[in-house]
Amino acid sequence: MSIVVSTAQTPSAIRPADHPTLSLVVPMFNEAENLDRLFERLAEVAASTGLGYEIVCVDDGSRDDTVARLIEHHRREPRIKVVELSRNFGKELALTAGLQHTRGDAVVMIDADLQHPPERILDMIVKWREGYEMVIAVRRDREKEGLLKRTFARLFYWGFAKVSDIELPRGAGDFRLLDRKVVEVLNAMPEHARFMKGLYAWVGFRQVSIPFDVAPRAAGTTKFNLFRLWRLAVDGITSFTDVPLKVWTFVGMLAAAFGLLYGILFIVKTMILGIDVPGYPSLIVAIMFFGGVQLISLGVIGEYLGRIFSEVKARPLYVVRRAFGFDGER
Ligand code: UDP
Ligand code: MG
Repeated sequence: MSIVVSTAQTPSAIRPADHPTLSLVVPMFNEAENLDRLFERLAEVAASTGLGYEIVCVDDGSRDDTVARLIEHHRREPRIKVVELSRNFGKELALTAGLQHTRGDAVVMIDADLQHPPERILDMIVKWREGYEMVIAVRRDREKEGLLKRTFARLFYWGFAKVSDIELPRGAGDFRLLDRKVVEVLNAMPEHARFMKGLYAWVGFRQVSIPFDVAPRAAGTTKFNLFRLWRLAVDGITSFTDVPLKVWTFVGMLAAAFGLLYGILFIVKTMILGIDVPGYPSLIVAIMFFGGVQLISLGVIGEYLGRIFSEVKARPLYVVRRAFGFDGER
């Protein structure tokens, strides 16, 4: 990130007049059909803020023609900038890449499918001007989502609140405004397991929420199936608490205490009533149950170990194939 400064240049040349105040970050995975509509609405909203702006689009390894379409948009409108990742890294890392490429004093992350109404950005900026460093758009209801996804989400928030020290506001996603200060803190975090919702809560700062209604997806389908949501939930929990690791000590102690009591009961019973052979079902049940419990605990250790492994390797968080619109600065 070197800036060449010739003697003839004034300080304003170092921080050009078109330095964007507002940066929009849009992660995209196979969103080609949504681009025209998206940029139309984003440009309209950005213009009505009266601020200098840039739209940082991160292509997260799309397999349709998202990249080609993005480049066309960039040629037409240089404020649309493109970061093309070398493969699909997942939304969390796409957002990370986007945040690291922004320069604005306020950064808003927004989905490409127009489920986050761009008009809300105006309300966010009002709050930002009031001095809030993070403005969180909270969805009013999850009614439009399937019962399974909703139950899963409810279970996750309940469990997360129980086992971690940070609080996740219900219904708050990635649609939010971050002040430059917050972005710098997030950018300085080296961890690979980036559960963004948790990181936002962890960094603190002055936060405020505004409500919004989720719109239906403009085109295409959701990229988050149940398995991906499960991975995200496991990521979230393992990044913010070690309770799942430690709980096994108690489970083990309880089981051992129970076994001991049961053993004593048996000895006494055998001494009084003699040897009693039946008990095959209870034996099988006990073996299966504790076999299961042991495998779960081993799996939990595996989750943490795998995460330690990926952090220790210290690979880059994401790989950029090409970037458009960031010339000279990086
Ligand atoms: N997305 C991404 N990488 C992925 C999955 C999703 O960049 O691996 C983007 C996607 O293009 C969209 C946003 O993340 O802009 C939200 O994804 P989606 O709409 O599929 O999720 P949902 O709204 O169903 O939670
Ligand atoms: Mg969506």
